[in-house]
Amino acid sequence: SFRCQDCIQIPIICQGCMVTAHQFNPLHRIQQRTEHNNKKNYWVSTELSSLGLVIRLNHTMESCPHKPLTGPPTRKFTAVHTNGLHHTVVALCHCPDQPSIMAQLLRAGFFPATTERPQTIFSLAVIQDFRMQTHEAGTTAHAYHSALQRQTDPTFKDRVDDRYREFLRVIQVWGHIEDQIRTGLPFGINQHLPEFHRDCLAVICPACPQPGINMSRETSKEHIKGKPHLFTCFLAADGNFRLVAKEKNQDEEARSLASGRAYMVADDPYWTYLESVHDDIECETCTNHKAGQLGRQLNSKHLRSRGKAVINCTRHTIVRPKAMVDFPKGERYSNIDYALASTIN
Ligand SMILES: [Zn+2]
Ligand SMILES: [Zn+2]
Ligand SMILES: [Zn+2]
Repeated sequence: SFRCQDCIQIPIICQGCMVTAHQFNPLHRIQQRTEHNNKKNYWVSTELSSLGLVIRLNHTMESCPHKPLTGPPTRKFTAVHTNGLHHTVVALCHCPDQPSIMAQLLRAGFFPATTERPQTIFSLAVIQDFRMQTHEAGTTAHAYHSALQRQTDPTFKDRVDDRYREFLRVIQVWGHIEDQIRTGLPFGINQHLPEFHRDCLAVICPACPQPGINMSRETSKEHIKGKPHLFTCFLAADGNFRLVAKEKNQDEEARSLASGRAYMVADDPYWTYLESVHDDIECETCTNHKAGQLGRQLNSKHLRSRGKAVINCTRHTIVRPKAMVDFPKGERYSNIDYALASTIN
């Protein structure tokens, strides 16, 4: 006999009934009653896949009538869900006009960790739950993944599969897709915007004058002079010396998916520019102004970045697009110059 830890008010039932009851909830946690000394007296965790449940893609209830040309009809996937990790058995659709594996999985509510021969899939629920947790509670991906492992096996967490690397990749790609959808990029909305904003994922200040968006590019100088309060954009630069990045072992293949398309300036042109500028350390005339010194004096041996600077509009304090730069060597004029030049369009 079996029971489910996630269903509400489900009675203790047999194997066949348990599989039937979970056609649409294949990632529930199941327990089996086990005999010990001829007494049925304790419950052990098992999986719906070992009870015979197969997740059938592209066909709701019945099996796909077509067989694959090569290989077995079903595949094993490690599925990551909000209640932990599961071993699942998935039957892909092999109909003549079937969608790609990627599309089949996405339609069923799974995001694969790789595109060609995926072996790990994440439920959309776990991705959305993590994004909510990280935005509202500041949960790190590492802590979240660790909690998922603990839920899977509360006693021997370390025996649970490690899918941290895959998790990082999936949430990065998901975040990038979501950013693009929210800016309307896939729907071509940006094609109607001025050149500077066409590939941009940042939210722009709706109140500041934005030539070509909320003010005409043809506005005459006389008109602007007559109402300078409407057409003046006040910008300010602000540095932060706590946003440091430590020099750590990093994946050399790691790449930003939106370099220079949101708030940070594009990486490669910025670093090339920094190679061409010489030291221009600010001579402070005020003994009370410690900001620049602080950035240079920090125990900087182990820092890859000693802070960041950003340009924002002073009236509404909204960060300008493509206007945030790293301080690899503490605050310098050259860093701020680049940020300002990059965001003025
Ligand atoms: Zn259930
Ligand atoms: Zn099919
Ligand atoms: Zn503004």
